Amino acid sequence: LLAPDGTVAATVFAEMSALAVATGAINLGQGFPDEDGPHEVLEAAREAISAGLNQYPPGPGMPVLREAIARHQARWYGLSVDPGREVLVTAGATEALAATLLAFVDDGDEVVTFEPSYDAYAAVIARAGGIHRTVPLRFPDWRPDHDELRAAVTDRTRVILVNTPHNPTGAVLDRGTLELVVELAHRHDALIVTDEVYEHLVFDGAHTPIAALPGGWDRTISISSGGKTFNTTGWKIGWATGPAHLVTAVLAVKQYLTFVNGAPFQPAIAAGLDLPDRFFADAAATLAAKRDLLVSGLDAAGFATSVPAAGYFVVADAAALGEADAVAFCRDLPRRAGVVGVPISAFVHPERRDPVRSLVRFAFCKRREVLEEASARLAALS
Ligand code: PMP
Ligand code: GLN
Repeated sequence: LLAPDGTVAATVFAEMSALAVATGAINLGQGFPDEDGPHEVLEAAREAISAGLNQYPPGPGMPVLREAIARHQARWYGLSVDPGREVLVTAGATEALAATLLAFVDDGDEVVTFEPSYDAYAAVIARAGGIHRTVPLRFPDWRPDHDELRAAVTDRTRVILVNTPHNPTGAVLDRGTLELVVELAHRHDALIVTDEVYEHLVFDGAHTPIAALPGGWDRTISISSGGKTFNTTGWKIGWATGPAHLVTAVLAVKQYLTFVNGAPFQPAIAAGLDLPDRFFADAAATLAAKRDLLVSGLDAAGFATSVPAAGYFVVADAAALGEADAVAFCRDLPRRAGVVGVPISAFVHPERRDPVRSLVRFAFCKRREVLEEASARLAALS
């Protein structure tokens, strides 16, 4: 990460957002919504600040939020989670991931993920001294091959790190694959870490939380965050749930990373988690319509697209436009068309980038008029 001149290489998201600002292009690169979330959630944060909740909250998180997280796991997944010992509030899902991997992965331990994968995974696995093993997901259906998964998990595997719904592909992992993850974790005495930050943004099919599968709970840390569900990505309120002995190990690391985080945002996210089912259904339906809008815009512009079942992103193949190199294409696109996207290669190890060379990720968590304008600009490319 450190360049020879001592600077830190920016993440692809920071680089692409900076490019969007510099060129005035529409930013379909970094995944963040351009509209506020539910009024109740924003109001609860304002009230918390006014009520003086502005000092360090308790280490594992404020009881009001830990209890709301436990209620959420019971309501949606039928899980019985003890808010006192089995829930930890973190600075976004990012800190939950980092603290979990730092807690459990030692030098030489192997961590298995699907690939492409969210960029923080490879960075934190390396920071923990782990060895990153991957199972490929292939455009356009992204379905993992079970034999490849079986081959990747061995007695050297310490953690199987799963992300469903998946960034950057928008795939929802099927139940059979998740059951195989649980079976392999038991067979090889590995832990499961599951990143479910897009759990409520599913359009086709249903989200299956690994912790709710038979045999899943005992060896799984489940991670989520309020950022995507409530359009509050800047608040960085995340959480980890799981058996008390695993959560305690994560807390041991978290206390020296950030100690605590986001006091007034914690009761606000608690209020969000308690919103009625209708809120969650409407949020997914609104986003599904935006997905449809951008997918048809990309199709009309000549890209080959993979229709995402969930999440914030659609993957488009620029080869159909005669663009074989998505990195060069994404660097030029802001000036050529006034749109920013992210090359999928950023989510893949440098040695394995060939199959994804022409793929680009575009975010659709934006207002309809923004997506319409971006589609019109991309259509003018060819
Ligand atoms: N995991 C995945 C798969 C994500 O897409 C993101 C958000 N970009 C995160 C984790 C980080 O979530 P947070 O902002 O809550 O740290
Ligand atoms: N999760 C968002 C994305 O994938 C933002 C990530 C980030 O900025 N680190 O675009």
